[in-house]
Amino acid sequence: MSADVPAIEVERLVKTYNGTTAVDGVSFRIPRGAIVGLLGGNGAGKTTTISAIMGLVVPTSGEVRVLGTDMRRDRHRILHRMNFESPYVDLPGRLTVRQNILTFARLYGLPDPKARVRELAEELDLTDFLDRATGKLSAGQKTRVALAKALVNDPDVLLLDEPTASLDPDTASWIRDRIARHRDEKGASILLASHNMREVERLCDRVIFMRRGTVVADAPPAELLERYGRDTMEDVFIDVARGQAVMAALESGL
Ligand code: ATP
Repeated sequence: MSADVPAIEVERLVKTYNGTTAVDGVSFRIPRGAIVGLLGGNGAGKTTTISAIMGLVVPTSGEVRVLGTDMRRDRHRILHRMNFESPYVDLPGRLTVRQNILTFARLYGLPDPKARVRELAEELDLTDFLDRATGKLSAGQKTRVALAKALVNDPDVLLLDEPTASLDPDTASWIRDRIARHRDEKGASILLASHNMREVERLCDRVIFMRRGTVVADAPPAELLERYGRDTMEDVFIDVARGQAVMAALESGL
């Protein structure tokens, strides 16, 4: 397959849940080897977009292609090259960390699942709690286990939904380095939803801002800082969010 084929292509994606439109005609492309941030206020449609790319949510309309493969028709062909992490998807709590990661290593058909578990445990510092029930771990420990699960198949396309939520600053920084290393060493393409603007500035080549299910900006962080005349992405985020407040007021006739 040509290296020119984008990692992810989303075209006019719409997702409606019982009358609520979560995603309302979103289009974007993620090139190979890029780390792209997906930003937006609560309820903007980020998780729904990520779930549709993974094939976990069936789009109401529109198209999603990953490495050129249509996710609606042929996702079984490409799922082995993808993975995701989300704090909203819990691993079975009664299984130990080892059992959980081993299960995924087997599901992905890795040649030596046990060796992969040992490797990830060492790399992500899970050894101390490898044989404890996953449900009894602290939030930060669970996040590390979720990242181990997300990296188990060394994916070419990685989708991360708030990968450093509930981590202490030191662990969060370490996890960010690990994510950057996955891109640098593997040439992987990463889409990352985050509310942490420093994380976005540090990791992302480009950011896509969503608001009410639509894309309102898609540019490198430096370009957005310039466009909004701001020094930090945090200020840009607030400007976008306030834009929403002003629009909402206008639309409701206030
Ligand atoms: P957050 O930053 O709060 O995680 P988000 O940008 O990830 O938000 P989504 O979780 O995609 O936003 O939600 C977008 C909209 O769709 C919200 O209005 C939400 O209430 C709605 N929604 C999401 N999932 C469902 C569902 N399973 N059933 C009904 N409505 C849903």
